[in-house]
Amino acid sequence: MPHYKIAIVGAGPSGYFAAQALQNMVTDELSFSIDMIERLPTPWGLVRSGVAPDHPKIKTVAKVFEKIANESNFRLFANVELGKDFSIQDLANRYDAVVMATGSSIGKKLGIPGEELANSFSAAEFVPWYNTHPDFESMTVDLSCDTAVVIGAGNVAMDCARMLAVDPSELDPTDTSEIAMKALHASKIRKVYIAGRRGPENAAFTSPELRELPKLEHTDVYFDAQMIEDAHLRAVAQSEFGELEKHLASNLEAMRAIAEHPHAGHERSMEFKFLSAPKEIKGNGKVEEIVFGINKMEDGKVIDTGQTFSIKCGLVITAIGYECDPISGISIEKGKIANNDGRVMNSNIYTVGWAKRGPSGVIGTNKSDAAEVMKLLVNDLGPAKSSGDITEILPSDHLVIDQSAWQRINEREIAAGEPLGKPRVKGTSINSLLEMSKI
Ligand SMILES: Cc1cc2nc3c(=O)[nH]c(=O)nc-3n(C[C@H](O)[C@H](O)[C@H](O)COP(=O)(O)OP(=O)(O)OC[C@H]3O[C@@H](n4cnc5c(N)ncnc54)[C@H](O)[C@@H]3O)c2cc1C
Repeated sequence: MPHYKIAIVGAGPSGYFAAQALQNMVTDELSFSIDMIERLPTPWGLVRSGVAPDHPKIKTVAKVFEKIANESNFRLFANVELGKDFSIQDLANRYDAVVMATGSSIGKKLGIPGEELANSFSAAEFVPWYNTHPDFESMTVDLSCDTAVVIGAGNVAMDCARMLAVDPSELDPTDTSEIAMKALHASKIRKVYIAGRRGPENAAFTSPELRELPKLEHTDVYFDAQMIEDAHLRAVAQSEFGELEKHLASNLEAMRAIAEHPHAGHERSMEFKFLSAPKEIKGNGKVEEIVFGINKMEDGKVIDTGQTFSIKCGLVITAIGYECDPISGISIEKGKIANNDGRVMNSNIYTVGWAKRGPSGVIGTNKSDAAEVMKLLVNDLGPAKSSGDITEILPSDHLVIDQSAWQRINEREIAAGEPLGKPRVKGTSINSLLEMSKI
């Protein structure tokens, strides 16, 4: 019976769902050994370092990942990095197939003057900072200003804005990083703007996230009711039979509910601005002001009116999308691994998740996507390779975090959170995580 060795690079949702799809295809005639390789000492990708700390239910998907990892045909090799500890060719030569599930971790740039000023960050920096990603351990975010501006009209922008706008006491029972909690407790920020260049009808927010906003206990949320009515009319005019798609109707309804929700006069507020295109960030070495061009929508197109307005602020976060990290030997096109339905051209390499599609969809989107790609992979398989795997590539003194070592980290983090009423306290650096992995 053929037995194939598959390497999956990246222990985020798409990597686990690819492993699960392979596990589901095991029969009396077909079996797999799955080696999952992860650069950090900890798995779970953006479920650990992306999903907002005040959304703990979303993170329970990690239980599914752990079930996949505990199957007998699965091995975890964490603290092992493709591109640094070995090359893609090293893997492709030893495994029947390699699945790139490396995500996209580089924040897209606005490309405007002043973007490089101090206290202008991408969500790709700000989010891992508040989620204790070890690469961002030494980053400093200055929250001593009273106003912050978040650029972007999707759920990542909304997460960033909400983290800045809520009273930090609401985050005390979460796994927000200790450094971020300290900064948020001392934060002077009371006004957070969230700005998109197109209209409310084009926003990529999803309605469950919008519907949460009026429930914030210490923050008033502002939406311009007229702007939503105008957006509704434009969307109806653009639609085929005057009927809005379900998700758009639901989004506009959720925005209307926010606009109509009475304001309690809280000191903290979050305000949505649409048709506002960032033109320049100004400041003397540090963010002091952001200038926007005012847009209008005509026949579904964005038109610059030539008018501008500006907001005095001390922090700008840009959340306008992500791109893949470059990996030697892999070609990247438009921020994604170049692929054809997940096949990476003329090789035994495949790709799934954000590395394949770009930053779109929810965690569940990666499940169906990975299952489709794994079907192609299995159909493409030829005679099984006889020997070799990652263990012969790594030097003997390389500290690999396997599933048991990760379970020790996991248990210690959870135990550290317990007396504080938090789900966990994460290890802050690679070294502290490696220490926690020891018996
Ligand atoms: C801020 C934010 C909030 C989100 N919130 C939600 C939410 O509330 N609900 C929801 O459904 N979805 C949410 N998402 C989307 C969800 O996180 C993604 O759909 C999902 O994580 C994509 O999975 P992935 O496996 O493709 O990538 P990732 O989760 O990014 O995983 C990639 C993994 O590959 C590893 N890796 C990268 N390069 C290498 C290398 N060279 N060698 C070895 N390993 C490597 C990384 O360390 C990482 O662990 C959110 C995304 C972000 C950015």
